[in-house]
Amino acid sequence: MIKIPAKVLIVDDEKDFVEMFSLRLQEAGQKVFAAYNGKEGLEMLDAHPDIDVVVLDIKMPGMDGIETLQEIKKKHPIVEVILLTGHGTIETAVHGMKLGAYDYVLKPADIEDFKSKLEAARKRKEEQEERIRRAEQKAMIRKSGEVY
Ligand SMILES: [Mg+2]
Repeated sequence: MIKIPAKVLIVDDEKDFVEMFSLRLQEAGQKVFAAYNGKEGLEMLDAHPDIDVVVLDIKMPGMDGIETLQEIKKKHPIVEVILLTGHGTIETAVHGMKLGAYDYVLKPADIEDFKSKLEAARKRKEEQEERIRRAEQKAMIRKSGEVY
């Protein structure tokens, strides 16, 4: 089976973590983008709207993960978000999931655990895109007056 790389954006203020995590994901065959704060993350998404999954740190100076998540969901509702949390912020992660995040991983993230969540998140996005495509096709058929 040919594996198409997922496009993953990591948004985290900890540069060491971003570098290490990017490397691991690249080794696993994924295409990785990085940003070091919420604003940069949003700009990156605007520039690369084909990004599949955002890995988003909750604790960041300035715009925190929850605020960033809300902005992401407003502008890019189909992009899946996996939150990065410490033990102290699991409740915030739960809140984030109610706001549309797909799931969360605890830091330091276990890469195997993360990879399975990443695949699942990406699959959900692909399925949603497929549903939208089918709905669009139906809408077009209706518009053109064709009956089938
Ligand atoms: Mg942080």
